[in-house]
Amino acid sequence: MDTATDARKKLLEELESQGVLRDEAVRRAFEKVDRQDFVPRAVEKYAYVNYPLEIGEGQTISQPFTVAFMTQALEPAAGQKILEVGTGSGYQAAILAEIVGEHGLVVTTEIREPLFDFAVRNLKKYKIITILNIDGSRGYAKEAPYDRIIVTAAAAEIPERLLEQLKEGGVMVIPVGDEMHKVRKAKGTIKKTFIGYFAFVPLKE
Ligand code: SAH
Repeated sequence: MDTATDARKKLLEELESQGVLRDEAVRRAFEKVDRQDFVPRAVEKYAYVNYPLEIGEGQTISQPFTVAFMTQALEPAAGQKILEVGTGSGYQAAILAEIVGEHGLVVTTEIREPLFDFAVRNLKKYKIITILNIDGSRGYAKEAPYDRIIVTAAAAEIPERLLEQLKEGGVMVIPVGDEMHKVRKAKGTIKKTFIGYFAFVPLKE
């Protein structure tokens, strides 16, 4: 086994021991998507380290643990329509695309043009991902409502427009300040659950 394959395997084992790959579909997606394809050349050798990495514009690709934790909390499933706010490298979008499959759709939004361009290159092979160079804090009404919404930058508060664009029975995972929240919309009401502390780059609002 070469070193890259070895390092990749070790990272998956680490995530497994951290309890964030319990869902079979999530685990399979992590096995399939190669993080090395989503990081700049300069940091390629750290692709399988459980740490966030710089992707330019002062932004980061999240730590693999965080991506797995948020993905698991989101309860994604085949055929769903998912909105992501904060495409960054495109890694999280690729993981979600593997889970929703060919009958699903991932709409991902990136406000910074150089990162939008970076993600478009990284996600070339994914036909079911729509990448938009827009401010995602307002969501994307054209494809709404969404089964799932994931925000990968820290908001000051949960944007009202995102709540509006969440389906009845839908789930949103969003960092508010340094607190990660899981939000469920049921019978028109919003149920918010605190699920952990995380450090994120700020959401531009
Ligand atoms: N999900 C990404 C992590 C990216 S970090 C990944 O897998 O790599 C958060 C990203 O959110 C940054 O790229 C930042 O530019 C973007 N962002 C910040 N505010 C935003 C907004 N209002 N709309 C869309 N993207 C935003």
